[in-house]
Amino acid sequence: MKDPAQVIQDTTVRLLRKAATVLPADVEKALRAAYERETNATAKTQLEAIVKNIGIAREGIPMCQDTGIMIFYVKVGEKFPFMGMIRDALTKAVVQATAEIPLRPNAVNPIVGGNSGDNTGKKIPWINWEIVPGDSLEITAFPKGGGSENVSIVGMLKPGVGLTGVKKLVVDNALSYMGKACAPNIIGVGIGGGADIAIKIAKQQLLRPLDDHHPEPEVAEIEKEIFEAINATGIGPMGLGGDTTVLAVKVDYAMRHPASLPVGVAVQCWAARRSTAIITKDLSVQYVTHPVEEK
Ligand code: SF4
Repeated sequence: MKDPAQVIQDTTVRLLRKAATVLPADVEKALRAAYERETNATAKTQLEAIVKNIGIAREGIPMCQDTGIMIFYVKVGEKFPFMGMIRDALTKAVVQATAEIPLRPNAVNPIVGGNSGDNTGKKIPWINWEIVPGDSLEITAFPKGGGSENVSIVGMLKPGVGLTGVKKLVVDNALSYMGKACAPNIIGVGIGGGADIAIKIAKQQLLRPLDDHHPEPEVAEIEKEIFEAINATGIGPMGLGGDTTVLAVKVDYAMRHPASLPVGVAVQCWAARRSTAIITKDLSVQYVTHPVEEK
């Protein structure tokens, strides 16, 4: 019998290695497509550098010196037998991955200062837990870069501004940072709930495949409108001008209080790292975003 804690840890180390070095196929495809269709010479050079960087990283070097703050999205089946081992295994995996890949230590104490040196510390890695039906465990590693995080916002709008106000907030935010978030970006928008719920929904949108559309046509239309409006700004890759400022805009919502219209805007950079695996109750592992055959 395999050691379940070790299987979870080993799987997570591989997820972190793949996340740091190989972009998910949908993100790479979108960046290559943006390069092919770009008409601005400066932007084309920027996108060419990004695409070359992706190729070099594939050899095992992190694609960006900012290897992110450690975040996981975990879906645990209510009958998965090793639930109590997950937090410890994920934390050990972060320490191991930081030393072996290596990853830049990015966990700083905001009160007394000082970097923990191994990407762990109070509440980090941050784990977003979801209990789901079934008996398997799905882990998504989501190391998040600081530059794009710095321009994520929550707006508490007056309900009277409606969806026009929501779209304006997202586009105005993009105009305010003008590519400082390592564009082309992916933008997640969460509408409703409350301040914390809106930004949580917004960030979850960054896990969606870039080529999907929201199943509700009204929401898909908002995604399209914001996507087109931000790309029409001409901010371009790295903010130096060009056709592609965002690769995708993803929107979802929760019901809201009658007096509130919270909007979360989560900004992701071109280094949109995420990797997912599923571990069954008999400890077989399926890598979803980065199959084992992939180098
Ligand atoms: S925002 Fe993204 S691309 Fe820019 S430095 Fe941070 S991780 Fe790297």
